[in-house]
Amino acid sequence: MAKIAIVGAGQGGLHLAIGLRQDGHDVTVLSNRTGQQIHDGFVTSSQSMYGMALGLERDLGIDFWEHEDVKYSAASMRIGDGDGNVMLYWEGQMDEPGQSIDQRIKMPRWMDHFEKLGGKILYQDADIATLEELTLDFDLVIVASGKGEIGQLFQRNPERSPYTQPMRVLALTYVKPMRPRDGDPAISINVNPGIGEYVTFPGLTRSGPCDIFTIECVPGGPMDCWADVKTAADHLAVSEHLLRTYFPHEAERIDGRLELTDDQAVLRGRVTPTVKHPVATLPSGRTVLGLGDVLVLNDPITGQGSNNASKGAQIYLDAIRANPNGPFDAAWMTNVFERFWDYAQWAVNYTNMTLGQPPAHMMKILQAASQNPAVAHAMANSFNDPQSITPWYFEPAAADRFLAEKMQVAA
Ligand SMILES: Cc1cc2nc3c(=O)[nH]c(=O)nc-3n(C[C@H](O)[C@H](O)[C@H](O)COP(=O)(O)OP(=O)(O)OC[C@H]3O[C@@H](n4cnc5c(N)ncnc54)[C@H](O)[C@@H]3O)c2cc1C
Repeated sequence: MAKIAIVGAGQGGLHLAIGLRQDGHDVTVLSNRTGQQIHDGFVTSSQSMYGMALGLERDLGIDFWEHEDVKYSAASMRIGDGDGNVMLYWEGQMDEPGQSIDQRIKMPRWMDHFEKLGGKILYQDADIATLEELTLDFDLVIVASGKGEIGQLFQRNPERSPYTQPMRVLALTYVKPMRPRDGDPAISINVNPGIGEYVTFPGLTRSGPCDIFTIECVPGGPMDCWADVKTAADHLAVSEHLLRTYFPHEAERIDGRLELTDDQAVLRGRVTPTVKHPVATLPSGRTVLGLGDVLVLNDPITGQGSNNASKGAQIYLDAIRANPNGPFDAAWMTNVFERFWDYAQWAVNYTNMTLGQPPAHMMKILQAASQNPAVAHAMANSFNDPQSITPWYFEPAAADRFLAEKMQVAA
């Protein structure tokens, strides 16, 4: 059995740490925040997760919220303008429901569970010197520190990173439940072309059920108006204004006024979508392996990051299961990441395509989804598994073949 250190007690790091501990490895997690600090802090994500990733959590027995009634079984997309004109709308059932559990609840619970399994947690902000020490003491060191600075150790891979700047300004908000939408609870995606998106779904937060939404604002556009927002109250007011102005159909769900779930239920930021090389070499020449956002950082527009962190953790876990005593050298590390990349490339392509100018074949598919339930069903399940919409979502000729086939079945 191996001695393994993981820096970062987030979605990826804890998933892997718990799995490894269950297999009997000697596992230490380094976290720069205690469970209580995570619980008491600001929201970090909207963390919508889907069937495949939730299934991995179920397999590990860490699906502690499996029976919470905050799931959603449908996905919808509306493309429309601020005057209420709708250019396109589709809705489809997801084969397995999605769920969003506030990371402020989830991570502290997982940390407790990991410790109960005999895992060790050290509370410290790891830096390069820490990693050097860890590589002396441990057979394998994994850096799963999310967007933390230490991730800068890993080099950007330009071939896999088409963007060099953020494509959206992000504003995340958790509010007390709004008026329920018509139909099943859903992830609702609303696009106001050239201006931005509004993505919302139900969730579970510190105070109970809530609605979570992310407003994705095109930089320089009319929704890019957050520079002077400092307080949670201002954040809420701007959010409500944008919702009413640019997404009037969704604003119909506001009952009176929007209300935050708590005064830390807001987050603003921007990410440059980036894929990095998986192995970082320390000054000593020893190496560490990245996991999760450290290596594959997506804009949240398609909700892939938490799902990817969990899927990546599982691939690493399986690779260690196949080679429990190592060696975990740089070649092994690269190989494990490439196995993950075989899958993750589709999540990245999907996300990056959604952020850019929509190609004609993509619009044809979305248009078809609004008329053909089979296409809507395929799209509704794309968030769970972006690989399931290959090649047709990504290649014009394959899109034509796919649509011809679906239209023939429908005729
Ligand atoms: C606005 C927004 C909305 C999102 N919505 C979704 C969504 O709907 N669905 C989805 O799948 N994804 C979503 N994501 C992305 C998702 O939250 C992340 O991809 C996911 O949490 C990444 O997991 P991780 O384990 O890599 O990192 P994290 O979950 O960020 O965990 C990293 C941990 O490491 C700790 N840490 C950092 N540096 C150090 C250090 N030096 N030493 C010790 N500890 C350290 C941090 O405090 C943190 O606890 C969203 C992100 C944002 C910003």
